[in-house]
Amino acid sequence: MAVTHTLEADVLRRQDPELADILLGELARQSTTLQLIAAENFTSPAVLAALGSPLVNKYAEGYPGSRYHGGCEIVDVAERIAVERAKALFGAAHANVQSHSGSSAMLAAYAALLRPGDTVLAMGLPHGGHLTHGSPANFSGRWFDFVGYGVEAESGLIDYEQVRTLARTHRPKAIVCGSIAYPRHIDYAFFREVADEVGAYLIADAAHPIGLVAGGAAPSPVPYADIVSATTHKVLRGPRGGMLLCGSELAERVDRAVFPFTQGGAQMNSIAAKAVAFGEAATPAFAAYARQVVANARALAAGLAAEGITVTTGGTDTHLLTADPAPLGVDGRTARRQLAAAGMVLDTCALPHGDARGLRLGTAALTTQGMGEAEMARVAALFAAVLRDEVEAKAAREEVRELAGGFPPYPRW
Ligand SMILES: *Cc1c(COP(=O)(O)O)cnc(C)c1O
Repeated sequence: MAVTHTLEADVLRRQDPELADILLGELARQSTTLQLIAAENFTSPAVLAALGSPLVNKYAEGYPGSRYHGGCEIVDVAERIAVERAKALFGAAHANVQSHSGSSAMLAAYAALLRPGDTVLAMGLPHGGHLTHGSPANFSGRWFDFVGYGVEAESGLIDYEQVRTLARTHRPKAIVCGSIAYPRHIDYAFFREVADEVGAYLIADAAHPIGLVAGGAAPSPVPYADIVSATTHKVLRGPRGGMLLCGSELAERVDRAVFPFTQGGAQMNSIAAKAVAFGEAATPAFAAYARQVVANARALAAGLAAEGITVTTGGTDTHLLTADPAPLGVDGRTARRQLAAAGMVLDTCALPHGDARGLRLGTAALTTQGMGEAEMARVAALFAAVLRDEVEAKAAREEVRELAGGFPPYPRW
């Protein structure tokens, strides 16, 4: 809830000033620095209101109409609305909105289709695969036998011929398409064709682009994948959480894979907040937002390239881009630290060829704040100036504060 201006804020401040200060401090941090982390965004006050509502108190194991707990008649309606809105938004026959996170959604997708020891073909982690795509530190790498495909050294584009060859050689039970750092559209039709050829399921992990799909700014995996796994908190701008989309033949397996196989009680406040976010994402304003996110990412990529920074694939089709700052004489880790000191918050990422780390940036949050291409040019120039040591960190921090101050994420607070 909007801790800064509501009665609840006063309650919290009186009862626990230590925590109230942390909430306000984080709001100040988010409002005075630039959020360039590709996976982050600013949810609306309406989404925050649903999250901070008494629905958080309700236990609701099961699905609408068949719960293990009494008193679910009202939250059942919230979940039905969320499911119907997700189905309509993405043109899917079935939606499950209970996953607590993108990783939980992936766990359920695997649980619905696979048995431990099955072979899965997914993007290798150094090339942009997610932890749930076979990391040895994650359940996926422990329980399944992962084979990794990658991107071409020169172009940075997915090596589609390698995907086909590895699929023919390893005959995986499932193929996963989706990435944490791939800046281009994915050819879902190609992955479908290969999956059909080798008799594999196709799982699209659309955690990143699903918000662009909702706004019509990226192609949809829904017509091609057996299961689409997604988050609700990235470009989609909803609460932190996951969801699954599939055809009617897999509906029951997917639902059982979420509950009772991998999760217990549904988080009804979060499901209500997902419904609010799906409602927002169905509006023309959101479609315009999604288009602007991409235009901003392209402007940012062009700005960085003009400063001499190497932009992977030469640009982007989406909300994110990856870049190698080496031409400016710094590696990714140093760059991230210097930029953070200047108030520009972003991630490093693996670069597929070699040990050096690159930078991953996204424009979802800045675009929600109302920034456009002109601001992206300013960010790119400041970004390069910091890495070239042309501006003092303190001066850069002041400029970032001024830029951010013109676009408050929560103007009424
Ligand atoms: C973000 C992401 C996830 C996981 O989301 P969490 O909510 O952090 O668990 C899974 N897959 C991909 C490709 C992602 O980008």
